[in-house]
Amino acid sequence: MTDAAAKIRHPRPGLTHDNRFFWDGVAAGKLLIQRCAGCRRLQHPPAPMCPSCHGFAMDAVEASGRGVIHSFVVAHHPPIPPFTYPNVIVLVELAEGTRLVSRLVGVEPDDVRIGMPVEVEFETVEGDLALHRFRPVEAAR
Ligand SMILES: [Zn+2]
Repeated sequence: MTDAAAKIRHPRPGLTHDNRFFWDGVAAGKLLIQRCAGCRRLQHPPAPMCPSCHGFAMDAVEASGRGVIHSFVVAHHPPIPPFTYPNVIVLVELAEGTRLVSRLVGVEPDDVRIGMPVEVEFETVEGDLALHRFRPVEAAR
């Protein structure tokens, strides 16, 4: 990383009334999924209304953090600081049934596979910014 790249701040999540609980959870080391208070349906990303019962009352549940890779892409170009490359971006199907876009670490890009079991972990990227990311786990766990 060049000195110029090192000075570029990491992009921040766009906080809204609907998703603030999710990022507060990440900062506290929890992966929270929005749940309709009416019909209990889980949804991610967070939204103001339940698409099933059209209710507006929402709460959240803490996810296990376990899931499998539903899809992925390995980004090589163009390199955008402060990200590191190759950057493995995954769509994780959580055990609870919702899907979540995140970053994958702990595996060579050529070894990433659809269906690979993964588990969430949290990293403090900068002093005031925590992000979720996933890491492969042994299938037997
Ligand atoms: Zn609902």
